[in-house]
Amino acid sequence: MPRTLITSALPYINGIKHLGNLVGSQLPADLYARYCRARGHEVMFVCATDEHGTPAELAARKAGQPVAEYCAEMWQVQKDLADGFGLSFDHFGRSSSPQNHRLTQHFAARLDDEGLIEQRASRQVYSHADGRFLPDRYVEGTCPNCGYDRARGDQCENCTKQLDPTDLIDPRSAISGSTDLEVRETRHLYLLQSKLRDRLDRWIDEQKDWPILTTSIAKKWLHDCDGLQDRGITRDLDWGIPVMKGDAPWPGMEGKVFYVWFDAPIEYIAGTAEWADATGGDWERWWRTDNGADDVRYVQFMGKDNVPFHALSFPATLLGSNEPWKTVDYLKSFNYLNYDGGQFSTSQGRGVFMDQALSILPSDYWRWWLLSHVPESSDTEFTWDNFASSVNKDLADVLGNFVSRVTKFCRSRFGEAVPDGGTWGAAEEALVQTLATRLAAYQAHMDAIEIRKAAAELRAIWVAGNEYLQDAAPWATFKDDPDRAAAQIRMGLNLIRLYAVLSRPFIPAASDAMLAAMGTGDDAWPDDMRAALMALPPGHAFTVPDVLFAKITDDQRDDWAARFSGTRD
Ligand SMILES: [Zn+2]
Repeated sequence: MPRTLITSALPYINGIKHLGNLVGSQLPADLYARYCRARGHEVMFVCATDEHGTPAELAARKAGQPVAEYCAEMWQVQKDLADGFGLSFDHFGRSSSPQNHRLTQHFAARLDDEGLIEQRASRQVYSHADGRFLPDRYVEGTCPNCGYDRARGDQCENCTKQLDPTDLIDPRSAISGSTDLEVRETRHLYLLQSKLRDRLDRWIDEQKDWPILTTSIAKKWLHDCDGLQDRGITRDLDWGIPVMKGDAPWPGMEGKVFYVWFDAPIEYIAGTAEWADATGGDWERWWRTDNGADDVRYVQFMGKDNVPFHALSFPATLLGSNEPWKTVDYLKSFNYLNYDGGQFSTSQGRGVFMDQALSILPSDYWRWWLLSHVPESSDTEFTWDNFASSVNKDLADVLGNFVSRVTKFCRSRFGEAVPDGGTWGAAEEALVQTLATRLAAYQAHMDAIEIRKAAAELRAIWVAGNEYLQDAAPWATFKDDPDRAAAQIRMGLNLIRLYAVLSRPFIPAASDAMLAAMGTGDDAWPDDMRAALMALPPGHAFTVPDVLFAKITDDQRDDWAARFSGTRD
């Protein structure tokens, strides 16, 4: 049995994600996980909330909550929304888990033992009023270059000049506004990524399956002059994983925590360990090549801005440890989904957010549109027009209407059981051939994680059934040759079961409804198209399902377009 490990980039904890975030990693990862399971793979699908860092602290402060309490609540909110969208994680973890504490501290100790960590002194802005060091972007002031008075300590967004906090004129804390600041010396651990360059170079050369785009992005980062730099892995913050050398104290690092960029990807492993602790499973056989992970294929899903991080930074941690960790075999990255002439934006509340989407339509409507328009080769744009017309055509007219016509016609002429009588003729044999060819193409696209092509092929499979039904016209045949009509409608009912099985990775709720209506739990992937189309035998009882997909009306479309044209509260 093939074994597939799938991770989705971790959503940050500070708020509800929008549909652009959803389609940029979690949703396509779910599609692939569901497909792999349907094809008989043993799958481990892991995601988690990314909970550390200053933005989490500030969001908690804004909510008037202790940060640990805020994160626990927001994890539950994100988990419930993931469930609402049918995301089939084997585990949805938290980067603040005890498992991640242990593993992050373990990796830091290993990297230190390998001579890849160095303590360096740096000078950083300390805010007396806030009682803490301020990360660069939380120091604000006037830009020495252009005079913009809200420049941040890392960069002026007005003139784009890269800045150091000490460059700012009249600096103040972005948290409290206090100007009672001083520059203090502080010591931090640095991961000597520059020492790992040759090793990463060789490792990337060994990756025969990576998309060319991924390899070229990684190589560019590795070899450009400001490529792989030594990088701080600790921070002067309260919220985070305490800096320890394994389970021992780290002299000089008391009161400091690991930097969120260092601990977040380790949560992919720790999330699997959380799953193991919750279920009695064995996480090492997914992650340690000395403990059974040698036959695992590891696929990661992420937005394109996250590629260098997954192709270089996380592998630097794994390879640098000099332990036999499983590294990624295939990276699937996405461009951006834009919203109605602009960008989705969490900070500006622009676009449709996951909770809002589910409040107006069931998840399958969104899943189908998002996956069939996933920004694979270029950015794509969500418009209400396009959304309504795709849903109405693909889901209501093609798939939903097929199911409705077949089941209602059968009930009215033959009753609520698969009719007996008649045999397949040339039209049925031709349909079997067409579907077998299309299924092979569908599988090839899904295996290659070419999602838009797979969606188009699935739609073509639905269309083939519609065309068959239109040509066969059992409502006409029935008058002269009821046996022939019985054979045709038997084919139709079996097509519904087939569609449920093939469509499940895209629209799992509708798929379940179709199987339930067909009165069967047989969701076996079709290895033999002819046999699959005879799975429901004469006499097998079914029921006429409720409307699978209601059409979106022009009024609804216009109403939603107006309602979501501004920003959320
Ligand atoms: Zn400036």
